[in-house]
Amino acid sequence: MTNDITELKRVSSQVRRDIVRMVHGCQSGHPGGSLGCTDFLVALYFSVMKHQPVPFDMDGKGQDLFFLSNGHISPVFYSVLAHSGYFDKAELGTFRKLNSRLQGHPTTHEGLPGVRIASGSLGQGLSVGIGAALAKKLNGDDALVYTLHGDGELQEGQIWEAMMFAAHNKVDNLIATVDYNGQQIDGPTSKVLSLGDLHAKWAAFGWDVLETQGNVMEALLATLTEAKSRTGQGKPVVILMHTEMGYGVDFMMGSHKWHGVAPNDAQLAQALAQLEETLGDY
Ligand SMILES: [Mg+2]
Repeated sequence: MTNDITELKRVSSQVRRDIVRMVHGCQSGHPGGSLGCTDFLVALYFSVMKHQPVPFDMDGKGQDLFFLSNGHISPVFYSVLAHSGYFDKAELGTFRKLNSRLQGHPTTHEGLPGVRIASGSLGQGLSVGIGAALAKKLNGDDALVYTLHGDGELQEGQIWEAMMFAAHNKVDNLIATVDYNGQQIDGPTSKVLSLGDLHAKWAAFGWDVLETQGNVMEALLATLTEAKSRTGQGKPVVILMHTEMGYGVDFMMGSHKWHGVAPNDAQLAQALAQLEETLGDY
């Protein structure tokens, strides 16, 4: 665990290399959102969350918990888990292959340490996070629960039920986060189904709302620290993270095109040339 910005950025660079290599290796998967959420997940797992990778405990009593609701960005999740020590990074090379524990969408029945829910059916992770947060209250456990959602995912109706429920029940040990990149698989969210004034909507549903630059490590750490300070005050907390899909690889940025497309050999080489190998490739 560290607050050293330089070190966290080095981890992010390696995670981004892992992402493009994993998706290239099986010619399948979702690099765009994974690259955009890399800085957040690195900040969370390497600086912010109180967690114990070994031995992995599914209940996580006394630990902060994280639930990836937009499960299709599994490459970034698996890489961050591996570099955090949940399992050997060599296993990243099995991503999306037959009999791998690293399925395209995370599942629990393979027993991969660090994965506590199956996800990828969008819209469900906030409800899971609320349940886990309420369980922590019942158990007298003062650790926190974090969730991550895509902005396109917020078009799912279950999200809005869960938002109402969390505020009504004062689930104030929960920090939800949104990958607010303005893109989804079929195009800009503004064209597919506009989210409108997202900040005002979360606030109207009774949440304490923060916004941050999601690809700036210093801003992420400051906002996550602020979010933690606002827990325990009777309201659930949400952070809208302004991110860029594909961040870190120039030709993957600026559109939804790389939401779920694998790079070919030449594109992989072009991507890796932009990402320093800092911790050793798997
Ligand atoms: Mg999006």
